[in-house]
Amino acid sequence: MQTFENASAGDIVLSIAERIIENRAYLSEIDGKIGDGDHGVNMAKGFGLAADRLKDANASLADALDTLGTVLMTEIGGSMGPLYGVLFTEFAGQLQGIDVIDAKACSRMLHTGLEGVQSIGSARVGDKTMLDALVPAVEAFDAAIARGDSFGDALALLAEAAENGRDSTRDLVAKVGRASRLGDRSLGVLDAGATSCALILKELSLGARSRLR
Ligand code: ADP
Ligand code: MG
Repeated sequence: MQTFENASAGDIVLSIAERIIENRAYLSEIDGKIGDGDHGVNMAKGFGLAADRLKDANASLADALDTLGTVLMTEIGGSMGPLYGVLFTEFAGQLQGIDVIDAKACSRMLHTGLEGVQSIGSARVGDKTMLDALVPAVEAFDAAIARGDSFGDALALLAEAAENGRDSTRDLVAKVGRASRLGDRSLGVLDAGATSCALILKELSLGARSRLR
């Protein structure tokens, strides 16, 4: 059975932060088309602050996710501070006290995070939000494990489903958040939160896969 070690996996959060910072301008450009253009700025600020705190800390994945979630929740404005804040603190909570992370622990982590986001945002799949990437990703992961795929293959399918979900937001009308004010004019462009969520899940997937034993 494939697993990876919690204690040595905190650097995955640094890789996620790098990817978000790299995509700062792109994420704000997408948000600018149907929102207020601050998504990349908000995200890069929060993930950058968390990365500064984690650099050289040698944190476990649980602790690194907790630092990230806490920074986002307390220091970042916009819708995404609390939404991603709860996602990562819930991820962290599920991993605390676990030495070796297997597919089951990963699934529990994903579900608890997803429930946290849904409980504070009350958005649903199809509303053109980050959930359009997150929900299909979690479902693809679970389906892969249920049919006997390896942890690594399930992680690859998680990232792929998140990207397909992100792409699906192009054809959706925004139902919640700032973009919902535009009605049908929100059609034809990607959702910024779904785009950042797909980037995050891809990096999480790559980081975990490269550490599997
Ligand atoms: P703001 O909307 O305050 O400017 P951001 O630009 O940082 O904040 O984030 C916008 C993103 O937030 C949207 O693209 C969408 O994916 C996400 N979002 C907004 N409201 C919700 C919600 N209720 N549930 C889930 N995601 C949401
Ligand atoms: Mg915005």
